Amino acid sequence: MLSEFELIRRFFTHRAAGAVLGVGDDAALVRVRRGMTLAVSADMLVCGRHFAAGADPESLGHKALAVNLSDMAAMGAKPRWVTLALALPRADPRWLAAFARGFMRLARRHRVDLVGGDTTRGPLNVCVQILGEAPGNSALRRDGARVGDDVWVSGVLGDAALALAHERGALELTARERARARRRLDRPEPRVALGIALRGIARSAIDVSDGLIADLGHVCERSGVAAEVALARVPCSPALARRLPRPAALAALLAGGDDYELCFTAGRAKRAALERPALLAGVPLARVGRITSFRRGPHRVRVLGADGDPIAHVLCGYEHFS
Ligand code: ADP
Ligand code: MG
Repeated sequence: MLSEFELIRRFFTHRAAGAVLGVGDDAALVRVRRGMTLAVSADMLVCGRHFAAGADPESLGHKALAVNLSDMAAMGAKPRWVTLALALPRADPRWLAAFARGFMRLARRHRVDLVGGDTTRGPLNVCVQILGEAPGNSALRRDGARVGDDVWVSGVLGDAALALAHERGALELTARERARARRRLDRPEPRVALGIALRGIARSAIDVSDGLIADLGHVCERSGVAAEVALARVPCSPALARRLPRPAALAALLAGGDDYELCFTAGRAKRAALERPALLAGVPLARVGRITSFRRGPHRVRVLGADGDPIAHVLCGYEHFS
């Protein structure tokens, strides 16, 4: 039987090049550079809620870190340090090795140091805390959108939800389409480089984890504005496009969570300036709508169909306590 200390030593003790002191003491020590503002966030993945009991441990390790990196991306912060709090029903070395592989591979790619955490026996639960840096006041926030801003989205939306719709039987994908969609769900690629490149260009940003309507809605609420999105401009994969306008495909595109793309706003004058971030990050950007002033009503985000009329608001983001 693996002891707690042996487990930490074997799977979670790695060289932390960017920290003063990593795993092994009562706390880690990190040195914050002069003029930098710290961005701090945590995201928890709960078995039975965010993933199934039999989920592939390597994908789970990847995703637990990816969703946290995505929060840094949305802030335009450079991720630097993470801690990992793990509750495990048992210490299974094969499971742990695969989990640590998924986690550490992504950590190394982003040069993020795992500097500490906690390990305890209990129902499977993974909680990652992340710290990142942005110079001065350059971090991107939800509350900076202004009337007249363009609304932009990176990559394509809806594939993660499309995979789930397939599992639910709401629609059917071919084997190849399913594999691609499943990969978006299991191994999201956080848009860290894009977030950093958007500093000084974007006026507000959020990552799309609960669906475009819900997440753009959060930006609007925090900024005191509203938004209009043209359905035909929302970027999606050929697999999803082929299934529009079926309700399950429409819901995946507009209200599906787990894409981890960025949605941001920027002034019209920044259209040309956005070519560089897209190129740097290697991800296409689509201008999907604009920020408008908010007139009272239940919906801050209106989605316009091909005829320019709003489509019915039957869709909302994933709400954990509904
Ligand atoms: P404490 O008694 O202070 O809680 P622990 O025995 O829980 O210390 O942890 C020992 C060291 O291992 C600490 O540096 C802690 O941050 C680190 N650690 C514990 N669990 C993990 C984990 N899952 N991943 C990374 N580091 C961990
Ligand atoms: Mg502890």
